[in-house]
Amino acid sequence: MAIRPTRWYDAYVFDLDGTVYLGEALLPGAKATIEAIRARGLPVRFLSNNPTRTPQMYADKLTRLGLPTPVEDVTNTITTTLWWLKTYHPTATLFPIAEAPLVDALRQAGFTLSDDPSQIDIVIASYDRQFAYRDLQIAFDALWFHRRAILIQTNPDRYCPFPGGRGQPDAAAITAAIEACTQVRCEVSLGKPSPLMLQAVMAGLDVAPADALMTGDRLWTDLRMALDAGMPGAVVFTGDSQPGDVTAQYDGVFQVDSLDQILPEPASPCHPV
Ligand SMILES: [Mg+2]
Repeated sequence: MAIRPTRWYDAYVFDLDGTVYLGEALLPGAKATIEAIRARGLPVRFLSNNPTRTPQMYADKLTRLGLPTPVEDVTNTITTTLWWLKTYHPTATLFPIAEAPLVDALRQAGFTLSDDPSQIDIVIASYDRQFAYRDLQIAFDALWFHRRAILIQTNPDRYCPFPGGRGQPDAAAITAAIEACTQVRCEVSLGKPSPLMLQAVMAGLDVAPADALMTGDRLWTDLRMALDAGMPGAVVFTGDSQPGDVTAQYDGVFQVDSLDQILPEPASPCHPV
């Protein structure tokens, strides 16, 4: 039985994979719910840990699936990775183990990229479906042999959910491979549950975390981030989590079977006397 909110919030933040859509299809209730929120003039923002697409590609996908969305409403780990590197390591030489959208974004931001281990300052472990032994060797040489680089990751997800209960190994697997051979620990993770993701997605909204609702399918990323920030959260059982997964550490989280249940139930219609 769903435990659903009884009020409207001033802003709504949604995870994407497993929450708004799965593969190439919107999940049940997603379109009507997001349209109902927008119809009240309330801001809707989308947040993804997946760095294999740019925010523009996500905006285009949502628009194609029937939810017209401007790029400004989408934040992902390309956004936070660029921000963190520009803020803390603006002149670093990078070795991204990543797909083209992140690599291109780093290049366009002016970063020097290199596969020469003697020059690399930061190894970026990401969700890279072309990951090869050569990448592991370069990371190993930069971190273990030259002992000059640090290791960061775009996101901590073990896998990305796919339709039919399937999935794809994600950035945690690549991080673990590098950690296993070098014994160097990843220093920073730039995806949910990092508060950086919440800061990035709430930027420009004059809404306190307590007055916004975070909805996602993954407890230890989507809901952990919300709870740590004092933000109400709803877990939707259309992706990574099942009702039995909601342990005491997620007390207070709303639990819904489909997205329409994050809206308060309509008031009973008045009956004529
Ligand atoms: Mg998800």
